[in-house]
Amino acid sequence: MKFCLVERQESRIRCAPDLGAAYLLGVCREAGFGTSLVCGSPRTLYDSLVRDAAAFLDTFKEDRLFGRIIKDRGETYFLGLLKEMYGAITSNQITDKTNPEALEDIWRLTTFLRDRTWPAFGREPFSFRTRLYEAITASKPDVVGFSLWNFYDHPQMAKAISDVMSRVRSQLDIPIIIGGPGMATAGSRQDAFRIFKPDYIVHHEGELAIAGLLSMLEAGDVKDIANVSYPGGAGLVEGRTEAVADLDALPPPDFSDYDLDSFFLPVRVLPLMTARGCEWARCAFCNHHATYPGYHEVSPDRVLELLEHYRDRYKTDMIMLHDETLTARRATQLVDTLSRLDGFYYYSYAYPRGYTKGLLGGMYSVGFRTLVWGVESGNQAVLESMRKGTNVTEIESILKASREAGIINVLFLLFGFPGETSEAAMDTVKFLERNKGYVERHSNSVFFLQEGSPVALDPSVWGVEPKGGTGYKVEKGMQNKEAKEFLKRIETSGLRTASGTMYHMPGDTEFRAYLFMQSVYGETSDFCSQDLIPVRNGVLRGDTLSPSFFGSGVCRPVLHLSGKDSAFIGSCGGIRSARDIDDDERIDRFLRYPYIVFYRKPFLKPSH
Ligand code: SF4
Repeated sequence: MKFCLVERQESRIRCAPDLGAAYLLGVCREAGFGTSLVCGSPRTLYDSLVRDAAAFLDTFKEDRLFGRIIKDRGETYFLGLLKEMYGAITSNQITDKTNPEALEDIWRLTTFLRDRTWPAFGREPFSFRTRLYEAITASKPDVVGFSLWNFYDHPQMAKAISDVMSRVRSQLDIPIIIGGPGMATAGSRQDAFRIFKPDYIVHHEGELAIAGLLSMLEAGDVKDIANVSYPGGAGLVEGRTEAVADLDALPPPDFSDYDLDSFFLPVRVLPLMTARGCEWARCAFCNHHATYPGYHEVSPDRVLELLEHYRDRYKTDMIMLHDETLTARRATQLVDTLSRLDGFYYYSYAYPRGYTKGLLGGMYSVGFRTLVWGVESGNQAVLESMRKGTNVTEIESILKASREAGIINVLFLLFGFPGETSEAAMDTVKFLERNKGYVERHSNSVFFLQEGSPVALDPSVWGVEPKGGTGYKVEKGMQNKEAKEFLKRIETSGLRTASGTMYHMPGDTEFRAYLFMQSVYGETSDFCSQDLIPVRNGVLRGDTLSPSFFGSGVCRPVLHLSGKDSAFIGSCGGIRSARDIDDDERIDRFLRYPYIVFYRKPFLKPSH
């Protein structure tokens, strides 16, 4: 039995491979099924930026900046620029990626692709559908599985995927399974069933479900199986939900299908889950905990085994924990466990309650460098209404202790929770101002009705009147539109949280791994030590160095380099220290270059 897994098909920047797909690959292979993977990005990025770029030129011309570049410099130049951007996005070199303007360019381009070229993917003459079909058939599968994410926001892409499924169905006549984060709720499964007409939907924890389903398909006898829904009668028959009883028994996630050096970061960052579900699981706005039936953990010994496996097989020491959130209890247990293993760094979500100075110091010493805290609000009454279980005063001391321990803090903030007034929301803004010295980044969002969340299940408790889909009205406080306007005002009012460091992070979640990398490698503007590692952070073309790929940067000039300067700039690649690449006299001169940033740790290339 041969199984082909199709990753989510999107043109986006990727900093790390997909954990869910890697778990499925590991389980299916251990069960003896020949399993292949059809990647999404950067395969799709290559099509958009290189292979099909000429066909997208008219679309690019509709953008003010891209249109101007094409008009001023010509189509050939612009196509070359896109190719250069593709090279930067899929290169593990640190250069070109350390200044805000180049990052903004990359972000602008990929946002444009998302908004303008993905919709065109599903139409002729673009060959996305043909290429995807051919990539699937190359492995001659007996079963194909598609991982779907947010198909609501990208209807044209969903249509293209659905067309590919129809072709698989009519020409190969093999079972089609869909799954992935897009299948988390019963409503989304019903919609996906209607749109994609799959033979099976795998949901919740999919590893044992998919391996069991493949075995039954091979035996020609599919019976009731947990976490699998299928068509029957008038619609979709919802499968029962079950947790993986023994997480330790799962094989390690298998990342061998990925070229780990074609991700955006100059270091290999791999995801890992040490627990599934949320230990708190009470927040009224959240349905994350509904994805997993109950909270269950990987044992400490197995966590160590997995980390050693990651290091031996994938040559990485950078781990992004994908646990829903880390409570102080679990963090204490992990510190004890991880102290038995040297040389790893961790990024994690954390639940801001019960963390002490001692615990945070211990976390730093075992390698935790970035913590993303679910703070949500700076108003105690709002926190209580959210059933967050946290306390504003305690959160402030935790953030301070965490920063003082050396950890980079990122905050999740939520505006417009039902009943929240603009005065209460201002308390969150004041909270940020009070704590900006301890907070590197904050990620803002506006409340919406998430299917399966306590507010959606019992709206009257929070004075909410659902209006269909995620729409709603509230009896008291800001309506959703007012909350969005409030947030827009706040975001444009210049509220800053970066505590005097140089963390550039345009965009959203895609760049969280980038922030993690910066927190480990220690980007700094403190030039007092010559042991710092210099990196060129401008876009070098021939003998000119500019801040921006598109030439739109105005805050720093384009530098014309002499041969000596050019060679010198070329040696600032994040590997050697300032002391090693020049003598003391010249160090003073090059420290003044506007196109060099410094790190405290070299970017050593992974050995293969
Ligand atoms: S918001 Fe975080 S802490 Fe609250 S229930 Fe959801 S995952 Fe758990």
